[in-house]
Amino acid sequence: MKTILIAEDEPAISRVLKAYLEKAGYRVEQAFTGDQAIEVFVSCSPSLVLLDVMLPGQDGWSVLEQIRKRSSCPVIMLTALGQLEQKLAGLNQGADDYITKPFVAEEVVARVNAVLRRSPQLIVDEAVKYFGSLKVNLRARTVTLHGVELDFTPRDLSLFLFLAQHPNQAFSREQLIEHVWGVDYEGSDRAVDLAIKRIRKTLENWPASEGEIRTLRGLGYQLYVQEQT
Ligand code: CA
Repeated sequence: MKTILIAEDEPAISRVLKAYLEKAGYRVEQAFTGDQAIEVFVSCSPSLVLLDVMLPGQDGWSVLEQIRKRSSCPVIMLTALGQLEQKLAGLNQGADDYITKPFVAEEVVARVNAVLRRSPQLIVDEAVKYFGSLKVNLRARTVTLHGVELDFTPRDLSLFLFLAQHPNQAFSREQLIEHVWGVDYEGSDRAVDLAIKRIRKTLENWPASEGEIRTLRGLGYQLYVQEQT
């Protein structure tokens, strides 16, 4: 089931959207401030975000910018009438669509369906990825730097490959545990920190200008890469 994040500070609007989206078969998470929107975005990895422009704390533009640093998840901006310039700015900043308030809930559901239909598959199909001088082969499960295969423990390798599948996307320790260690894992989150420390050591000759594993305070980790070719 796909998860939609509604970032909207007006409880009545959020409630109506939630009801309609759930009826349409989506799981819904809600956020009522900009900061909360980012927090929930990171913890629930939604398939799409409905993002109000006027949010308390960080506004919708700032939230959009933060989301775009982490992922290409589709975002539909909710704008007030007369914010045409803002709409255009939003589309330039990477919003996928916008809806003008006041809106009819059915229309929002239709737009959500449409954007999800056209949004590119986020699962990476290519087995081999290049991050500067680092070559990651997801199928063969190998990581080579300047042609030399790097040596990871199997778990560390799984963790790094998972991050490499989703470059520039932040994951919480809990998410990494769930994806890499499995839902049955009962140890501490500290295992993630230790694994990341070992992975960074293994990658120490990979130039930071090409990419690095970043710690995002309060969020978790991401494999930050300059550009992908
Ligand atoms: Ca608002």
